[in-house]
Amino acid sequence: MKEKIEASESILEFIGNTPLVRLNKVVEGFKGLFYAKIEAFNPGHSAKDRIALHIIETAEKKGILKPGSVIVETTSGNTGFSLAMIAMIKGYKCILAVSDKSSIDKIDMLRAMGAKVYLCPAKVSAEDPRSYYNVAKKIHEDTPNSVYINQYFNELNVEAHYLTTGKEIWEQTKGTLTHFIACSGTGGTLSGVAKYLKEKNPEIQVIGIDAYGSAIQKYHETGEFDENEIYSYRIEGLGKNLIPTTTKFEYIDRYVKVNDENSALSARELALKEGLFMGYTSGSVIQALKQLNEENIFDKNSRVVVILPDHGSRYLSKIYSDQWMNDQGFVVEKLDNELIVVE
Ligand code: PMP
Repeated sequence: MKEKIEASESILEFIGNTPLVRLNKVVEGFKGLFYAKIEAFNPGHSAKDRIALHIIETAEKKGILKPGSVIVETTSGNTGFSLAMIAMIKGYKCILAVSDKSSIDKIDMLRAMGAKVYLCPAKVSAEDPRSYYNVAKKIHEDTPNSVYINQYFNELNVEAHYLTTGKEIWEQTKGTLTHFIACSGTGGTLSGVAKYLKEKNPEIQVIGIDAYGSAIQKYHETGEFDENEIYSYRIEGLGKNLIPTTTKFEYIDRYVKVNDENSALSARELALKEGLFMGYTSGSVIQALKQLNEENIFDKNSRVVVILPDHGSRYLSKIYSDQWMNDQGFVVEKLDNELIVVE
């Protein structure tokens, strides 16, 4: 009898079911217990694998995506990478309109995965024809048989996290969590998970993380879209210069804002203290925990779950480059691991 080989048909089978890991040293002295869902364990190294797969497979089921179809999207990188990866495996083309704020590493990765990339200026308004929203829209209109993923306005983004991330967190914590804290870009992760958790237990506190320079927190607090809140900032994937319909404010109790420097330093701290080499917004998450802890919102019974959205390898030329940190004027603490050049 032949031995049965244990192998998967493709890496798509490994999307989701990411590990939940206890945070220890970065939250030393904080009241309560803290757990991080490590989305870098997805095959595309970010939480965006979940929405890319759900949106593509829903379009396939509806017969919208056919062999040779083109997948079009705007993306800061992660969604693009997930789409390009899934398109490659399933045999679709992938065209991406990307903000020029994205790291060169991310853009090279998209192209390595076969995607065609349009690099669009970040410092223009969403209405400008050069904005990545309008560039993607035009490509979609001009390309027959194309599907526009439109993650900021696609309900399937929220649904993907409702069906997978939310359920996983509830099951992994056996329903014992008291707080859920996550970054808000499209708001898909935050809203989908929040909806699932609040349906199970409305007492769970849901806190979104926004960036200084983004309009989201103020909109949540006042209902006003205030353009004066908007300015350019460094963190990629967090906050927004518009209000996405995928952010379901009714499930979000409050927001906390973080800045570029603290987020970058906290990402480095996460690697050094926990051995977790994660992306820029994972630093934002740790920074948010510090600020919330300062506010004394946690107690000894708190069971806090956070999402760490992606992997650090995408930010080598940014937050993990001493040169880049110095160029931003961010003060990096000197460690005893200075580079030693052997002559
Ligand atoms: N972190 C990173 C690195 C991201 O790319 C994104 C997505 N823009 C987020 C956080 C926020 O996730 P969401 O879009 O689900 O709010």
